[in-house]
Amino acid sequence: MSPRQGRMVAVSAGVLLSAALATLAFATQLTFKTGFNLFTIPEDVSLGRQTAAQVERQLPLLDDETTTRYLAQLGRSLTAYAPNPQPEYAWQFKVLNSGDINAFALPGGYIYVNRATIECAASEAQLAGILAHEEGHVVMRHGTHQASEAMLAQKPLEILSGFFGQDGSLTSDVLRDLLGAGVESLLLKNSRSMEAQADSVGAYILYRADYDPRAMAQFFEALKQKYPGQTLGALSFLSDHPDPGDRVKAVDDEIPQLGPAKPWLADNRQFDAVRAHVLSLPPPPKPKPQPQTS
Ligand SMILES: [Zn+2]
Repeated sequence: MSPRQGRMVAVSAGVLLSAALATLAFATQLTFKTGFNLFTIPEDVSLGRQTAAQVERQLPLLDDETTTRYLAQLGRSLTAYAPNPQPEYAWQFKVLNSGDINAFALPGGYIYVNRATIECAASEAQLAGILAHEEGHVVMRHGTHQASEAMLAQKPLEILSGFFGQDGSLTSDVLRDLLGAGVESLLLKNSRSMEAQADSVGAYILYRADYDPRAMAQFFEALKQKYPGQTLGALSFLSDHPDPGDRVKAVDDEIPQLGPAKPWLADNRQFDAVRAHVLSLPPPPKPKPQPQTS
């Protein structure tokens, strides 16, 4: 080998090594840890399924194939990039026929997006950001983490004596016995630290799926500017997803850990068509008194 070739090999090896170290750095910096949880993942799914059935008895679904198919397709494509993948998750995406801007996730992967959220999003990346954020709540298992903490606080003896999970079946009835009414809201109300974690997972998913990871934070910011000071009424999004601080800055800080800059997906043709289609549909029904789930 000539000295020149030798130098090139050394340079190539150096480049490879630094690329490997960079990949390792991205991989090690961003690990997403789930909190204390008494449930198994199949129990998350079972609890989510039961709660979803209840949600659908109380809230109207948007009966529209085009919109539902598009949302489900987009949501499913993003799940491939979620951290802590588990084959058990149900991953179901449905549109609620509601003029209230909101979206929520039940344990096990049951995700609902209100039609007004699609109408209000400015791009596919923003809608993807909302879905990725909700998927973050699912894979970080925030609902059953909250339920677990409540159970530990309220019924430590039952838990210590092995009452919980003895036969491996955990139903929402068992939970209601343990925790009383309001179990559903427990599964849905997210703390600010959970919001920060869902934002972080959301940005991670967006980056890996080639969407601008800032799109989700931008959606939240746009909402805040459009509806200053409002967190209730037609905007339960912001009360169900309390702002953990400066969302945009938090995502900006995370971006260097996600990986090198790359061109983001910016084709909004399908999104624009679906959004125009949703806007052309008859308006949503007048809301009934809100059930416990909101
Ligand atoms: Zn959230």
